[in-house]
Order: sequence, then C-alpha cells, then structure tokens
Amino acid sequence: MSYDDNNIFAKILRKEIPADVVHEDEHCLAFRDIQPQAPTHVLVIPKQPIAKLADATPEDRQVLGHLMWAAGEIARKEGIAEDGFRIAINNGGRANQTVFHLHVHVMGGRDFTWPPG
Ligand code: 5GP
Repeated sequence: MSYDDNNIFAKILRKEIPADVVHEDEHCLAFRDIQPQAPTHVLVIPKQPIAKLADATPEDRQVLGHLMWAAGEIARKEGIAEDGFRIAINNGGRANQTVFHLHVHVMGGRDFTWPPG
C-alpha cells in the first residue's frame, strides 16, 4: 500500500496539527489518543512513513523494535506497567485501522478482556 502524506498522523509529525505529546526521540513520537478507550491511551508512531504493519520491510526491523521498547517505556512512565496494560496494532480494514500511518496503541488504567472485540 502506498503511503499518503496527508494522513492525520503525518500532519502531527510535521507539527501542522497539535497533539498531547508524551515521548519523542529520533525514531518515534508518542501522543495521547484524541478519543481514549482507556484512562491511559497513547499512540506510538514511527517517524518513518509506514502505512501499516504489513508494509514494513526488513529495513524497518530496527524501528519496529524501537516502537515496542517505546511502548514499554511509556507504560512505565504512565504508571501502568506493573498493573498490566494492553498494546494493539490494527492492520487494515477488517481490524478497523482508520489512520494509515503505523501506530501502536498503549492502553491501561482499566481491566481488559480476552479475546478482544
Ligand atoms: P486505528 O483505528 O487506526 O487503529 O486508530 C486510530 C486512532 O487515532 C483512534 O484511536 C483515534 O481516536 C485516533 N485519532 C484519530 N485522529 C486523531 C487526532 O487528530 N489526534 C489524536 N491524538 N488521535 C487521533
């Protein structure tokens, strides 16, 4: 799938629209979800333009690992790491991906059920 530079997260990365940023480094940006599904709901996105997980290439492996590290780091800083938290990546239409810039949902502060809906 080709990457659309006009998606909302690309605009957040370019600082064209504001976001409540909780973490930023050379590889990723993390900010609070505008419509939180849990008391803590942060989105971690790569600075690299990857539309969805299944589009990642072997060259993206380091950044994918970095996103996982950042998700754990954010959970620790948000104080949800020890109680338990959920990370999710929606890939494509059937999984309800709505923004086509790869993002990791980091959610905590409530109980989660399994299987997810
Ligand atoms: P998806 O359904 O693609 O996995 O998740 C997209 C997420 O982005 C949703 O949880 C939605 O609430 C969030 N979102 C959509 N637009 C914005 C926005 O402009 N700012 C922020 N912070 N989150 C957004």
